[in-house]
Amino acid sequence: MSDKLPNLIDPLLFAERRSILAGSLKISTLERLSGMVANTEADIEVDVRFAKQGKRAVVSGSIKTLLELECQSCLQILAWPIELSFKLAVVSSLQEADQLELDCEPLLLDGEKVSLNDLIEDEILLAIPDYPKHGYDCIARQQSKDPGFDDNSQTQTNNPFSVLAKLKKTGE
Ligand SMILES: [Zn+2]
Repeated sequence: MSDKLPNLIDPLLFAERRSILAGSLKISTLERLSGMVANTEADIEVDVRFAKQGKRAVVSGSIKTLLELECQSCLQILAWPIELSFKLAVVSSLQEADQLELDCEPLLLDGEKVSLNDLIEDEILLAIPDYPKHGYDCIARQQSKDPGFDDNSQTQTNNPFSVLAKLKKTGE
């Protein structure tokens, strides 16, 4: 799965040929996304298919990766799996995009080629929430781990970890 993907592609030509591109790329090759994640060396697995629907060139595919974002509550790492699919129709103007009759998002082609990297990056950025957060009360959990945080309601006896430590010591 380490086939290198081309960046600049001609979607009309690829659609004529019914091409399929499958492979992976490093997060570090996508500049905007790299600034948002801790694991820039991770791979993004991509599968892109080109086809024609009527006269229209259509690009569909799937993207899979695991991002390490910064939780906006506790500022710690937040593992964020991405598994998405997309379907785009190639258009040559905004007017054409407005009149798109297919059940697709428009992909504006304003030259001969489009950047596959940009396309993948845009799709991933759309899938990241504005304020990613842990699905549990991460601040409370972090404070209970912090030795400087003195919580008087937590005594030796109701702390499951101290019970475990005692069991270990006595060998029971
Ligand atoms: Zn958090």
